Amino acid sequence: MDLLLLDERLAAGEQPGFRARQVWEWAARGAGSYEEMTNLPLELREQLAGEVPFSSLTPVRDALSSDGTEKALFETHDGRPVEAVLMRYRDGRRSLCVSSQSGCPLTCTFCATGAMRFGRNLTASEILDQALHFRRKEPVNHAVFMGMGEPLMNLDAVLAACERLPDVGIAHSHTGISTVGWIPGIDRMAEEGPPVRLALSLHAADEALRSELMPVNDRYPLRDVLAACRDYHERRNKDVFVEYLMLGGVNDSAERAEELADVLDPRVYKVNLIPYNPTDAAFEGSTPAAIAAFRERLEARGLRATVRLTRGQDIAAACGQLAARSADAVTAGAG
Ligand code: SAH
Repeated sequence: MDLLLLDERLAAGEQPGFRARQVWEWAARGAGSYEEMTNLPLELREQLAGEVPFSSLTPVRDALSSDGTEKALFETHDGRPVEAVLMRYRDGRRSLCVSSQSGCPLTCTFCATGAMRFGRNLTASEILDQALHFRRKEPVNHAVFMGMGEPLMNLDAVLAACERLPDVGIAHSHTGISTVGWIPGIDRMAEEGPPVRLALSLHAADEALRSELMPVNDRYPLRDVLAACRDYHERRNKDVFVEYLMLGGVNDSAERAEELADVLDPRVYKVNLIPYNPTDAAFEGSTPAAIAAFRERLEARGLRATVRLTRGQDIAAACGQLAARSADAVTAGAG
């Protein structure tokens, strides 16, 4: 729900200061309506139901993958598409992937979100409402800002949302923010960020290749990004998680692995190799054998490296596939 509007309506009704907290606590624990908030006066519940929409997002459709992953498409009040994903794991982990923007202004060549029209930054409430949508179905315990958008370009709203995620059941230590390497945001995370996990989408250690794949590298070159990450590590004493998309014949050779190992200090970085999920772009994923060989080379250089488990590919819910394309009611689409 729009928490600013909630505050405003409560203040206008001269309600005591603790009411906003009461409402939020119900919502954060998965309540589905104001009616359920039995410690609020009936009259107030009715008033809020008329004045403050229970969610700032309208669900448009839900898709369920054969692996249990669920993707939700929403629309904002001004008609912007937003997608969020819930991944269910056998060990009980329930991990949310939330969007920080509708679309994305960066144009990474391998990412479907980068190919759709950029809408705008989401508000903290619009981010939280993605989490609450799934919280109403079941308890959730992990979250990553790996949906649509670049979270560090919308850091005020992202941090405001992070602050409330523990109430929803998601501890800071189970929250991850992923960035293309937006240096002002990394600096701010080092300065004042909550103790969440920071991930860097790296994808190529060579500056020229990285600029080809991710135009943002011209603005913030990798060497400067890595200096900012090192500074973050020194100040926060936290590992940085590197995401490295495995593109066949592009960045997956033995030489590319050695280049990557050359720029990453094993005491600072942990590498997560990401199998490519098909988009409209003309890339092919690396073979499993190429991924395994790449990983072995990194490990031989002392780096910790894992391979990401792909989830939700059959409903276009996997990394890089969020483009709201299956929607008929929304304005943007990768087409
Ligand atoms: N803008 C931020 C947050 C989005 S995270 C960032 O880029 O880090 C989305 C993750 O999925 C990023 O690591 C991105 O590089 C990765 N990704 C993008 N397209 C992909 C694809 N087609 N297959 C697999 N991963 C992809």
